Amino acid sequence: MRDLRFDNRFVRELPGDPEDGRHVRQVHGACYSRVEPTPVRAPKLLAWSREVADLLGLDETDLRDRRFAEVFGGNALLPGMAPYAACYGGHQFGSWAGQLGDGRAITLGETINPQGQRWELQLKGAGPTPYSRRADGRAVLRSSIREFVCSEAMHHLGVPTTRALSLVATGEQVVRDMFYDGNARPEPGAIVCRVAPSFIRFGNFEIFASRGEEPLLQQLIDFTIDRDFPELVAAEPDPAQRRVKWFEEVCRRTAVLIAHWMRVGFVHGVMNTDNMSILGLTIDYGPYGWVDNFDPEWTPNTTDAGGRRYRFGHQARIAQWNLWQLANAIYPVIQQVEPLERALAAYAEVFEAEDRRMMQQKLGLETWRAGGEDEEGSDAALVAKLHTLMQAGEVDMTLFFRRLADLDPARPTISHFDAAFYDEARRRDVSSGFEAWLKDYAARIRQDGGPDPVRRERMNAVNPLYVPRNYLAQQAIDRAEQGDPTGVSELLEVLRKPYVEQGGREAYAARRPDWARHKAGCSMLSCSS
Ligand code: AMP
Ligand code: MG
Repeated sequence: MRDLRFDNRFVRELPGDPEDGRHVRQVHGACYSRVEPTPVRAPKLLAWSREVADLLGLDETDLRDRRFAEVFGGNALLPGMAPYAACYGGHQFGSWAGQLGDGRAITLGETINPQGQRWELQLKGAGPTPYSRRADGRAVLRSSIREFVCSEAMHHLGVPTTRALSLVATGEQVVRDMFYDGNARPEPGAIVCRVAPSFIRFGNFEIFASRGEEPLLQQLIDFTIDRDFPELVAAEPDPAQRRVKWFEEVCRRTAVLIAHWMRVGFVHGVMNTDNMSILGLTIDYGPYGWVDNFDPEWTPNTTDAGGRRYRFGHQARIAQWNLWQLANAIYPVIQQVEPLERALAAYAEVFEAEDRRMMQQKLGLETWRAGGEDEEGSDAALVAKLHTLMQAGEVDMTLFFRRLADLDPARPTISHFDAAFYDEARRRDVSSGFEAWLKDYAARIRQDGGPDPVRRERMNAVNPLYVPRNYLAQQAIDRAEQGDPTGVSELLEVLRKPYVEQGGREAYAARRPDWARHKAGCSMLSCSS
């Protein structure tokens, strides 16, 4: 396998932990601890992303090299790698949780690709670090498959995300109690190599604020701007102003991110501030889920079943709450309340504008009739009515919007959406309301103008046909746990073109089957991973 070029700015420019070793500790005055992956018994490459390999300047021959699995399974380092675990804190489920840090993620280094782009390579599940607390630093195959598949799927869907290069089986067992009910069992372990320009989280800033380490806080802010937001350095010469603009940009990116999640029906599941990327990327795929039947109340995370803090329809508000925590954290450096509050207000405006724009695209409308949800004749009211019907009627979100593009405006009928209904009784409950809505919509697109084929094509470019539905991922997991990992690559292959109908792949576009409705891994997931 060829060598990669490394330029490890994070460890070179920021202070590290003076203490060595993996023993669990509180790390003060440092952004990271140097720690190497713990070798595994039998690393075996199960799946990879050719797009990410390409990004890094790697090809098929590199991937087929035995050394690839050794490096990306944590058994060997390439020259120039400088592994470390980052120190961060976070607000978990609304409360400050203190120091968390990379408990099982280890960054190998920052590689510079042939085009000069910087990509951080990070192994997840690479063994204990000083931040592992009471856990083992490992990851199970099922959660690794979910992270690997979903992060690449998100990229192909056009949603900002961290990427995944490889999925490597460790040949070791990991013991997990999936439902925290005393039934711990051994499961196969795996390691994903994640790739992103930066894995810095809101929590990396919060930890220094919580400890009153203000010089370090300022250093990390300025480092982040310099390395990861070069456009701000060019645009704003004054460092104080630049920090404000940086926070505004973080707010803007986060707003765009959440609007995309709402567009495709993604529920993150654990929007703690340690799981919020400073670059506005989807990060840390855990008990996430994909909305099958449209339901703003739905949360896939069993740990969140009581409060539903991170439910589908609440994600925009939670992101703003998280940005408030980041604002509080950086305030000692910014020292002005007003620009921070303005940026937080702008977050809400950007989210609303993006969410509306994306909904307009989903509906295939060229124009938008102004007015609030309660105003008869407004498009906001049209959307609100649709959401109410979809929720009450248990309508599959993905299939509904995809079928909508093919609706004949001259003959709008509910039977066009047969494939999207889960329950006969629910369908009967909403059928007259649904028919009425379809008539309104048909009238609306006739008035909106534009030829049908053009509208259809535009709608199909924003309404995916294939998303990594929870049950599809679970089927690939079941097969992989039986020793056949090919289902992972097959699923990824379909998800590489989520907007293009693929002949013979109908099964991947089907609504959730009945057996998956209440099955673990398909509609509910625990944090155990
Ligand atoms: P998460 O909820 O997955 O974002 O994890 C929260 C914190 O727990 C992070 O600091 C993780 O690094 C840590 N963590 C989760 N699972 C493990 C594990 N198996 N071993 C060590 N640390 C872990
Ligand atoms: Mg996390």
